[in-house]
Amino acid sequence: MNKVSMLCLVLTESSIDGNIKFYQKYSDYCDILELRADFLAPEEWPKIHSLPSQIRKPIILTFRKPADGGHFKEGEALRIQLMRKALEGAFQYIDLEEDFSDNDFEAHVRKKGVTIIRSFHDFTGIPHELAQRIRKLPRNAKEIPKAAVMANTTEDLLSLFEAAEELGSGDRIILAMGSFGFPSRVLAVKLGSMLTYSSDSKQQAAPGQLDPESLAKIYNFKSITSETEIYGIIGNPVMHSLSPKIHNRGFRMLNLPKIYVPFQVDNLEHFFKLARVLNIRGFSVTIPHKENVRKYLHQSDEGVEKIGACNTVVLSPANQWTGYNTDAMGFLLPLKKQFQGTLKNRRATVIGAGGGAKAVCFALKKEGMEILVVNRTKARADELAREWQMQSAGLDEIERIKDYSDVIVQTTSMGMAPLEKMNPLEAYHYSGHEMAYDIVYKPPLTLFLEQAQKAGCSILNGESMLKEQAYLQFKAFTGQEYPDPLGLTLF
Ligand code: NAP
Repeated sequence: MNKVSMLCLVLTESSIDGNIKFYQKYSDYCDILELRADFLAPEEWPKIHSLPSQIRKPIILTFRKPADGGHFKEGEALRIQLMRKALEGAFQYIDLEEDFSDNDFEAHVRKKGVTIIRSFHDFTGIPHELAQRIRKLPRNAKEIPKAAVMANTTEDLLSLFEAAEELGSGDRIILAMGSFGFPSRVLAVKLGSMLTYSSDSKQQAAPGQLDPESLAKIYNFKSITSETEIYGIIGNPVMHSLSPKIHNRGFRMLNLPKIYVPFQVDNLEHFFKLARVLNIRGFSVTIPHKENVRKYLHQSDEGVEKIGACNTVVLSPANQWTGYNTDAMGFLLPLKKQFQGTLKNRRATVIGAGGGAKAVCFALKKEGMEILVVNRTKARADELAREWQMQSAGLDEIERIKDYSDVIVQTTSMGMAPLEKMNPLEAYHYSGHEMAYDIVYKPPLTLFLEQAQKAGCSILNGESMLKEQAYLQFKAFTGQEYPDPLGLTLF
């Protein structure tokens, strides 16, 4: 059978009763628990031993000192005394730090049949020779080594997976904290980690932890095995991305052994090394890597070549990275569905001259439309217009839009937080016959769309584009159509 990792719910309430209630909220999702006894109020300390009899799952007892990221500020003698008392209850595991030294207590722990997790924490980075350090942690064959380290870069995450490879098989717990380390929590099984820690988003016991419901429902955590194929999205930042929700839903519905994970990437070269280590089969690309990722591709489609940006990369059967741009078609499909009649020889205005605008212009040009590009920085609009035989204007010349108004597309960041109060066409007078399309997807009704709608225009927002470009990626990743697209709710 393929290996899986356990989902460990971290209990960080200040009372035993509070922890039981917290556990009940997530009991369906977790396999094991960790009581962070250092989060308890002092008056709760004498009751710790009562917890295991009230929860029918294995529990790790952890009493963390500030030096290891914990809250227990009293002396070591009291900590040991409290742990000894706590072990009157049937805890299966106890987490003791690398530098813990009390032979009497450890003998007592072993006599009770409690397994020791021997841990070290580094909240600043990844120590050199991590694999060696982990190998040296256990004091006997029964102890389980645990390393919780901070990933500050993509290279750090790469070192973690390389260390896991070097270690080979054997029980252990390994994770990297922080948003660069996030994939280590979802892909715990690929690190050979027996569990991943999870807590409520409000009460994270360590940076980067995800709540159990999201791990189970968005990331299909229970179905990730050592054999699961890895996909993902690269960007910086990337944790806000809705793509994991879209793709993992598709994988789950079609029962595909695949997982899609966000990778925060500060260095593409390091990511491509990581992709080989993890055998990543394909990934989406978002800001700021859409242009630079092209350097690493073996081949790419016409959209990537012409737009100069790639949002989808797939590993071909010949092990070559192939780039696609699904933004352009993702933009076009909803427009074609909604627009009555042909787009050929119709006239469009595209507001903006950035990456999004280029994909939009490419799609509209392919349909044979006449285009006016309007941008705050007119020189950028001029350059794009020159390249693709279009017209250009500055944002102070919006009266020119009248002649290019079958479709008006808004592609700037205006309308989206923090620019949600901005509308590039505030001074424009709509006739009511224009079709207004904003590629911003949050909020669903930007000021630009609101104004057009009030004037009687038909409107489209960026959510349909976001979904369509993702469905095209899904097809590129799996060879299959995205299942039940109408059932997908993102917001
Ligand atoms: P980008 O390459 O950085 O371009 C930004 C554009 O916005 C430029 O034309 C810029 O004008 C303009 N702009 C920014 N701030 C402005 C301001 N305060 N006043 C006037 N113009 C301003 O960004 P992008 O990749 O094209 O993305 C733009 C938007 O499209 C984002 O909201 C993004 O979320 C959205 N988008 C949506 C989808 C989807 O699937 N729905 C896909 C891609 C992008 P200057 O040239 O004068 O700086």
